[in-house]
Amino acid sequence: MAATAHSFRIPQALWDALVIRSLGEGKTSTAVMLEALAAHLGPAPREPDALSDGDAAEARAQFTKGAACLHCGGLHLRACPRVRRLSWRNKEDLAEVEYWAAGRWDPGDTVFPEDVFAEGHPEPSSPSG
Ligand SMILES: [Zn+2]
Repeated sequence: MAATAHSFRIPQALWDALVIRSLGEGKTSTAVMLEALAAHLGPAPREPDALSDGDAAEARAQFTKGAACLHCGGLHLRACPRVRRLSWRNKEDLAEVEYWAAGRWDPGDTVFPEDVFAEGHPEPSSPSG
């Protein structure tokens, strides 16, 4: 695809706000702009296939047993990274779950089915598996 040149003009009021904020935070206006863009875009896509064969086999066994997280569908050792807040009526009665918006949460070390049931690995429902 051929590169296309674009010209953007940042409105003066927005630029002034950016400069004022960068001065207040002791950062360059470029750093403030990049932080705002990163927050808007969410976490970078993860590199899949970071698991060893043994860990992937263990994760497949866990998924096949139905051990996936109720909230994110993955496997993780600590609290679910997709959950922003839990509200309880009492200590056994969950009242409300607030999730992070799609693309706004960092899956961290969470393993998802698509990470371990890639091509070459049978799906749990596969007749050959
Ligand atoms: Zn989860």
